[in-house]
Amino acid sequence: MHHDWLVVGAGFTGTTLAERLASQFDQRVLVVDRRDHIAGNAFDGPGLGGQPIHHYGAHIFHTTSDRVWRYLSQFTSWRPYEHRVLGSIDGTLVPVPFNLTSLHALVPEARAWAIEERLLVEIGYGGTIPVLKLLEHPDPLLSGLGEFVYEKVFAHYSAKQWGLRPDQLDRSVTGRVPVVVSHDDRYFHDRHQAMPADGYTAMFERMLAHPNIDVLLNTDHRDIVGQVRHLRTVFTGPIDEYFDHCYGALPYRSLEFRHEQRPVEFAQPVAVVNYPNEEGFTRILEHKHLTGMAGDATVLTTEWPRDHVPGRNDPYYPVPRQENRALHARYLELAGDSVPEVIFAGRLADYKYYDMDQAVSRALLVFRKLSPVTPRLRPHLSGRSM
Ligand SMILES: Cc1cc2nc3c(=O)[nH]c(=O)nc-3n(C[C@H](O)[C@H](O)[C@H](O)COP(=O)(O)OP(=O)(O)OC[C@H]3O[C@@H](n4cnc5c(N)ncnc54)[C@H](O)[C@@H]3O)c2cc1C
Repeated sequence: MHHDWLVVGAGFTGTTLAERLASQFDQRVLVVDRRDHIAGNAFDGPGLGGQPIHHYGAHIFHTTSDRVWRYLSQFTSWRPYEHRVLGSIDGTLVPVPFNLTSLHALVPEARAWAIEERLLVEIGYGGTIPVLKLLEHPDPLLSGLGEFVYEKVFAHYSAKQWGLRPDQLDRSVTGRVPVVVSHDDRYFHDRHQAMPADGYTAMFERMLAHPNIDVLLNTDHRDIVGQVRHLRTVFTGPIDEYFDHCYGALPYRSLEFRHEQRPVEFAQPVAVVNYPNEEGFTRILEHKHLTGMAGDATVLTTEWPRDHVPGRNDPYYPVPRQENRALHARYLELAGDSVPEVIFAGRLADYKYYDMDQAVSRALLVFRKLSPVTPRLRPHLSGRSM
C-alpha cells in the first residue's frame, strides 16, 4: 500500500507527527517501531502480575506549556498527581530536592535551626539556592551545608548515573541542583502536572487511531527500506545508527530495570525513592503511586545505571559533552547533504534529553514547518485540532 509518510518510531515525537500529518493534512502515514509496543519509553502496559507498570522507568507528565497540555488533552483525561521524591540518606528517608524538612531530619537540632535561620536571612522562605553557591558561601554554616548536601545527596548519585567517580564530576555542572528553603516537597512546580487517566499507552492508541494511520510493530526501519512505498520520512531513532555509525557511535548511558512483585499494598511512601550512596542502584519506583492501581500486591522496579552497548541495551541518556555535540553536528550535516528529504526529530535523532512535553513541543514545531506531500486536503478533516 502507498503511504505519503513513513514515521520511524512510535514514541511521543513520531506519534505526535503522525497524528498531525493524518488529521491536519489528510496524509496517509505508516508508523513503524522495532519494539513490540507503541508509546516509546512512556509505554505502561501490563507487567508483573498483570499490573500496568512503567516499563522504562517512572514517567511523570509535567509542563508549563498550555499548547502541549491542550494538544494531549484531546486524547486523554488526566488523574491529578504531584510527584514527590524521597532520598534514603544514612537510612533516613528525606525529601529530595533537599529542603528544610530534610535539614531537620538529618542535622543535629541546634545546628539545623542555626542553618535555617541563616538561610531565611540570606534567601528568604520559599527561595532556592544552588548547591554550588552554598559550597562557595563565606559563612561556614552555609558552605558546610553545601558540602553535606553535595556529598550525601548528589555526588555519588551523579557518579553512579554517569559511571564516574565522584571526584571526576565537574562541580560547576553538578552543583546546579537547588536546596529549597521551605517545606515544599513537590519535585516539579509546573502549571500542569498529572498522569493520563488510562495510562500513556491508551493515550497513544487514541492518537494513532486515525483511519489514515497504519502501525507496524516489531519492524526495524532497516527491514523495510526500499520495500514500502512512501514519499517522505520522519526518523525518530538514533541518527548515528541511521548512518551506520560512519563517524563513530554517539555515547549514551543505559539502565537495567529489575522488576519485583511484593504481597503488600504499598512498599514505600512515594513513587520514587532515591538511593544516592552505597547501593549500586540509583532509585526504586513503586508503580501503583503513578498508575493509581488498587490491590493487595505491588510492583517495584529498581534502576541500575549501565554503560550503553549498541545492540545489547537501550540508549537512554545522551552524554552531555562538547565532543559528543560536535559528533552529532557532523551527523546532522551529513543528513542535510545526503538525505534532505528525511526529517530527523526526537530525543535519539536530536541527541538531546527531552522531557515528554519537550518532545511533543518539538514535534508540533516540526509539523508547523511541513506541508502535505500530496495535496489531498478534503473539507471534512478530522475535527481534532490544537
Ligand atoms: C528512565 C527515564 C525516565 C524518564 N522520565 C521522564 C519523566 O518523568 N517525565 C518526562 O517528561 N520525561 C521523562 N523521560 C523522557 C521521555 O522518555 C522522553 O521525553 C520521550 O521518550 C521522548 O520521546 P521520543 O519519541 O523522542 O523517543 P522514544 O520514546 O525513545 O521513541 C523512539 C522510538 O523509536 C523506535 N526506534 C528507534 N530506532 C528505530 C528503528 N531503526 N526502527 C524502528 N523503530 C525505531 C524506538 O523503539 C522507540 O520506541 C524519561 C526518560 C528516561 C530514559
